[in-house]
Amino acid sequence: MPLSLPVLTPVKAPTATHCPYCALQCGMNVAVEAPEQGPDGTVTITPRQDIPANAGGLCQKGWTAGELLTGGQRLTTPLLHGEPVGWDEALDFVAGRIRAVQAEHGPDGVAVFGGGGLTNEKAYLLGKFARTVLRTSQIDYNGRFCMSSAAAASNRAFGMDRGLPFPITDLAGADAVLLAGGNMAETMPPFVRHLSAMRESGGQLIVIDPRVTATARQADLHLQPAPGTDLALALGLLHLVITEGHVDEDYVAARTNGFDAVRTSVAAWWPERVERLTGVPVSLMRRAVAVLGRARRAAVLTGRGAEQHAKGTDTVTAFINLALALGLPGRPGSGYGCVTGQGNGQGGREHGQKADQLPGYRKIDDPAAREHVARVWGVDPDDLPGPGRSAYELLDALGTEAGPRALLLFGSNPVVSAPRAGHVTERLNSLDLLVVSDLVLSETAALADVVFPTTQWAEEGGTMTNLEGRVLLRRRALAAPPEVRSDLEIIQALAVRLGAPASLDPVRAFPTEPREVFDELRRASAGGIADYAGITYERIAAETGVFWPCPDTGHPGTPRPFLDRFATPDGRARFVPVEHRPPGEDIDEEYPLYLTTGRVLAHYQSGAQTRRIAALNAVVAETFVEVHPDLAERLEVSAGQMLRVVSRRGETEGVVKINPAIRADTVFMPFHWAGANLLTNPELDPVSRMPEFKVCAVRVERVG
Ligand code: SF4
Repeated sequence: MPLSLPVLTPVKAPTATHCPYCALQCGMNVAVEAPEQGPDGTVTITPRQDIPANAGGLCQKGWTAGELLTGGQRLTTPLLHGEPVGWDEALDFVAGRIRAVQAEHGPDGVAVFGGGGLTNEKAYLLGKFARTVLRTSQIDYNGRFCMSSAAAASNRAFGMDRGLPFPITDLAGADAVLLAGGNMAETMPPFVRHLSAMRESGGQLIVIDPRVTATARQADLHLQPAPGTDLALALGLLHLVITEGHVDEDYVAARTNGFDAVRTSVAAWWPERVERLTGVPVSLMRRAVAVLGRARRAAVLTGRGAEQHAKGTDTVTAFINLALALGLPGRPGSGYGCVTGQGNGQGGREHGQKADQLPGYRKIDDPAAREHVARVWGVDPDDLPGPGRSAYELLDALGTEAGPRALLLFGSNPVVSAPRAGHVTERLNSLDLLVVSDLVLSETAALADVVFPTTQWAEEGGTMTNLEGRVLLRRRALAAPPEVRSDLEIIQALAVRLGAPASLDPVRAFPTEPREVFDELRRASAGGIADYAGITYERIAAETGVFWPCPDTGHPGTPRPFLDRFATPDGRARFVPVEHRPPGEDIDEEYPLYLTTGRVLAHYQSGAQTRRIAALNAVVAETFVEVHPDLAERLEVSAGQMLRVVSRRGETEGVVKINPAIRADTVFMPFHWAGANLLTNPELDPVSRMPEFKVCAVRVERVG
């Protein structure tokens, strides 16, 4: 297996760039000290002060990210059926198999799966490649598993989905922040400094989470609902906002539509009923509502805990309704926001790697959008395919009679991160061709017919859009190992072999320089919701990021897009009535416990990168099952022993961790290791197609 140490070649040091991991996109300086050759070079990381999101802070993932560049598990040559080969052999093989599959099964016989960690340039070019070269409708990405419910709810309410529609620094000036289902003290610790600044100025933090997380411990109020009941809790809070006279009637009248229907729909969610269903005491609900009602400036934020449900869109909608009733969205210093998770989770959902989308957050079934993007691409709009399957539906269809027979996968590891992962692995194994582009041999890459070794963060340029909608510059700090190529180079090489449409020169249509791709992205996004037309690399560098929408180079960018009007046709936000419903799978005699999944501080997403870093493994090296002491006593297990966790879809094992702060009816597992998602429920949200990651029914058994 060609896993070897890369040769560090200094480009210059230090280079101002951004962390490879989460959506906070902390600014960092990367200094490279490399000898002439060999693995003895060092990479030193220090935080940047000029990026407001982290302003001098990093978490342990960021501090140790240099090991990704120097560590010994890097892929350094293409693999064909596990054997190292040259690039031409690997690319020719892939192109030949794609041609054969499409000759037999048509364009949709080949699918593409992208990632929320890809730069804007990669995500854009991948979407263009799928639609113009492969002519397939079958493209989606792992961000569907991340922010799609919040995106769907924001689009429904505001006509636009920009995670935080205000600068993150606004939070410090708030009197109250309600955070539903987010644990930033573990996922993105520098975020917490904005909440701490708020609290130091007298503001209050309210956290809604079934677990007593590190973030919940810092809260002034912690509401701990049963897993899968956040929607009922949000309805109950709005009920109290109405009955206790906290509705901002002037705002509701001037800036929104539809409140009467929502007022009627929450009338039945009186606090005692909500307490019975959620387990949250009425007194706590009243205190939370009093804090929110008193606040002059406040924010309602949601994270994956509220969003990753088969009713995630409605849950987020219920929190948006609450924020609207309080008069928060579109007010300076206030608002609703989704705390995006993946590194480019925001930009990755804007420029065309989604099944139903064209660049600029355009809809693929909108004739005007097709016309515009086809003109930029130099193709006939009628030749662009229509919408395809969403991420889980795509993975579920692989290798079936009606589904794709080949998959090209960039920057994703669904063997670990997809729900019902055992089934997804079976589907991947049933393909005629699986191609994975990655920097390490992830669990998914290990199944692939062909693996392309690709450049990573500090070896490449490009743009990332952080959780505020601020477009940032990723800069190259050092050269990649000699046999490693960028995803842009891989896409171009495949386009050349497969032949772009007659109207396109594949080399010019698929540039390998990120700046060239970005300039085309700007034109393709122009006039769309996520309009990047006025953003240039020079401006990003000079202004430490530019907020979209930014329609021309004279435009200052838009830190707070809803101050005057929302992005709906009439400029008013929409209240949408929603109803609580039970989880897709409730507990019963056979499966008497809830499983909820989440993150730990030391690891990121599927762990493909962080599980290869010694300093992070020293903190948490293996998966675990967090249980309440009463449950541990019943099972006669103690900390450190092994527990088997079984759901209707699979089983896995983990080390027992006892936590008196977890609910007695709930167990928790992190999803950074293969295991937790063998258990999770793939039931999908009807609007966002988000799977129900956050709650399923399980039983636990002592091992041995
Ligand atoms: S993982 Fe997130 S919070 Fe941690 S340093 Fe990187 S960008 Fe910052």
